[in-house]
Amino acid sequence: MINRRKLLKGLTALPFIGSAFGIEKLNASNRSLLISNQVQRDFFKELGIRTFINAAGTYTSMTGSLMPEQVIDAIRYGTSEYVNLDELQDKVGERIAELLECEYATVTSGAFGAMSIGMAGILCGMDTEKVSKLPNTQGMKNEVILQEGHNIGYSQALTNVGAKLVFVKTAKDIEKAINKNTAMLWYLNANTENGNVKWEAFVALGKKYNIPTFIDCAADVPPVENLFRFTKMGFDLVAFSGGKGIRGPQSAGLLLGKRKYIEAARLHTPPRGTTIGRGMKVNKEEVLGMLVALELYLNKDHNHEWKLWESQIKWISDSALAVTGVETEIHVPPHANHVPSLRVRWDQKKVKVTVEELRKQLREGHPSIETVGDKEHLGITTWMMTPGQERIVAKRIYQILKAGAV
Ligand SMILES: *Cc1c(COP(=O)(O)O)cnc(C)c1O
Repeated sequence: MINRRKLLKGLTALPFIGSAFGIEKLNASNRSLLISNQVQRDFFKELGIRTFINAAGTYTSMTGSLMPEQVIDAIRYGTSEYVNLDELQDKVGERIAELLECEYATVTSGAFGAMSIGMAGILCGMDTEKVSKLPNTQGMKNEVILQEGHNIGYSQALTNVGAKLVFVKTAKDIEKAINKNTAMLWYLNANTENGNVKWEAFVALGKKYNIPTFIDCAADVPPVENLFRFTKMGFDLVAFSGGKGIRGPQSAGLLLGKRKYIEAARLHTPPRGTTIGRGMKVNKEEVLGMLVALELYLNKDHNHEWKLWESQIKWISDSALAVTGVETEIHVPPHANHVPSLRVRWDQKKVKVTVEELRKQLREGHPSIETVGDKEHLGITTWMMTPGQERIVAKRIYQILKAGAV
């Protein structure tokens, strides 16, 4: 039997095969990667972990999204050489800003990391003395005004770096709350419908009082236009998740907006130590992966993808509706996770299975399927599936419902 070393030697000794595969360009560790790929290990299986069809959506607990091949290639490419981390972030930041037609950008550790370093940048500006003090904000403006309806757990990203939250309801309240300690106005796009003050009016207040505005758009692509919309509208900073709709690395994100705030935010990030953001490291592989994921996302045929999602959702809906007593509703959330989505409900007297039992059966069957929902309904999206999996999901839901039908 040919051992690995021999195989490797053989490959590099053959110039034709070597160049055909581009092997001469790879270093030793990459070459062995190439070889080891030929004996693929099934890591999840080795660990006793079940994989599943993701019929739920972009949930961190379910490891977010899957990266396209080209993103994985960029990550692998990044492993082969050393570069200066700041230089890489500078250049990629410029490139992303050009692509998204905004002043500046940087790759962050998720949208949460973008919020923390963006906030930290606003608190400290370019003052390195202040930078080393966070989360102690003594002597700094540290109040962040936000609408009550925009307060979800993620505002912890702001308080983690020392900001103090001030809750308001109306535009009048915002004006009343503004004082000499106001550092920023905060907006959560996903909860737009839960607040009185909408985007333009919110930005106008920031401009009127010369206070920076920051919007959390973590889960707000699609539509692709959102990557441009809020910086153009005048928000000073905008945060997106890298590993949701954009399908970049799960732990990456984007901070877009005004150069002066993003440069200030960068002061908190590695390679600089003694900062609050030292633990929010983004490695070069993720920086490259994020850039390539964004390029791919921008160049995608979004209409085609939307039609695919609609047809997948319809397929699952029709299949469920074939069981008497079942009702479905196809809807698109207006903000965040803005994709064709399905709710399935049924008359429990006609179909004797609870939503929880059905979801458990989906999870425990083969293959395992993850969904969302509550006591009343089963929730499905198809955008995180591999095309074709919708048929498996449709069939399994039908089978379980049918088995419960009286
Ligand atoms: C997912 C999400 C975040 C966190 O994003 P990460 O990229 O996981 O850090 C923040 N805010 C909202 C509204 C989100 O949906």
